[in-house]
Amino acid sequence: MFDCDHFYRCCVCEHEFMARADYDDDPQTRDCPKCRNAVGQVAYLGSSANSSGFVLSDYGAVESPVTGQMVEGRAAMREHLKRHNCRILEPSERKNFGI
Ligand SMILES: [Zn+2]
Repeated sequence: MFDCDHFYRCCVCEHEFMARADYDDDPQTRDCPKCRNAVGQVAYLGSSANSSGFVLSDYGAVESPVTGQMVEGRAAMREHLKRHNCRILEPSERKNFGI
């Protein structure tokens, strides 16, 4: 089912996890394996095969598309996304924006 590792984060309990082969990867129905109370609120973080160099342990400084300010580090990005009620796009959504 998966040809690489996919990482997710639960927006309810903040649990981050790697999808197992039997994990439901549908953004509408997938749930958090820890709290099991996060249907539709599990953010896709990226995959090990992501050519843009996604690193689970830390983000480099990136320019926020929301504020235009630099956001440095994973914790700051997490806070930033939360503050602006944003999440990282699903790969299937990216093509809608031509990314
Ligand atoms: Zn959870």
